[in-house]
Amino acid sequence: VLDVLRRNGPASRAQLVDGTGLSRATISSLTTDLLRRGRVVELPRRPGTGTGTGRPSALLALEPTSEVVLGVDFGHTRVVLVLADAAHEVVGSRVRRYRRPTTWSRRVAIALDAARDLIASNMAVNGSPAPTAVGVGIPGSLPHREDVVATVTTALSSALAAPVRSDNNARLAGLAETVWGAAKGLQNVAYLKLSHGVGGALVLDGRIHTGPRGTAGEFGHVGLDPTGPLCRCSRQGCLEAYVGLERLLSDAGVDTLAALKDAVDAGVPQATDVVTAAGRRIGAVLAAAAGVVDVAHFVLGGELAALGEHLATPVRNVLRNRLLGQAQADLRVELAALGEYAGALGAVATVLREPTAAGELPTAV
Ligand SMILES: [Zn+2]
Repeated sequence: VLDVLRRNGPASRAQLVDGTGLSRATISSLTTDLLRRGRVVELPRRPGTGTGTGRPSALLALEPTSEVVLGVDFGHTRVVLVLADAAHEVVGSRVRRYRRPTTWSRRVAIALDAARDLIASNMAVNGSPAPTAVGVGIPGSLPHREDVVATVTTALSSALAAPVRSDNNARLAGLAETVWGAAKGLQNVAYLKLSHGVGGALVLDGRIHTGPRGTAGEFGHVGLDPTGPLCRCSRQGCLEAYVGLERLLSDAGVDTLAALKDAVDAGVPQATDVVTAAGRRIGAVLAAAAGVVDVAHFVLGGELAALGEHLATPVRNVLRNRLLGQAQADLRVELAALGEYAGALGAVATVLREPTAAGELPTAV
């Protein structure tokens, strides 16, 4: 019952019967118990919410302060933490920085120190309980990082006494953009994280599509030319080999992203050509994805989003030319809105939205 309310928001008892597959009598007794224990609240009846001519049916919702979840996003140089309640409201956050060659056990220790501080101050200020679940974002392709995932999830789970769900942080950032950010409320979105590497997410029907091997959304290693430049994945001609940050800086003859942005803002031809060519290649890969899975909404995130419309316009132009029929009419290309907090917010969203295994959360009745 809590899972259905967590995923779908307020629901009537009849909708809970449909959503859980439990009998009316069982739903009635469970909801009575949850109401008595303050885990669920009954919302005021509103006209027009009932079916037929009778009085509208009462809607039940999670008590917003009854549950908080923690989102943790590990980057190469910092960890971001977000604490949010069951109503998806952010109640607190922390950012801690570390040097690039920091071991994973040290990163986890830094995150735990920040988490304890965040949880304690939120308890003192809002009287909130300890988090009932933790979402974690980890950089890189997770099938190749099983050791890191195991280190992080085991340490956080035992220290915080809560179940931990992890995912690639580019995928979590994409989900967050559909909940709070540039694609808020959209159900089918392709998200690109453009930085030193190129990652991404496919959100389909409101959920991250990971695929059976956990590799869905790897836009960076879509091949554009089998005879193209060598990629760090040892293949040739991947999107990342053309549009990764270092490649763009070297092609444009500048040292930093800020310098590249200044150059395109000033209309320096070499820099403008490099960014436009990158946008066209990104557009070509997104158009191919759109043709396969029927998405028309795209979000460009990661550090390169700082290039703004210099990058988004060529992406949009290619997509406009290549999408078919209604997808062309529905096309939206946005710059990411959530910046540094996207991964941690996505970690929160994934634990609030995804069904949890029976008994995973301490909600037994
Ligand atoms: Zn590659």
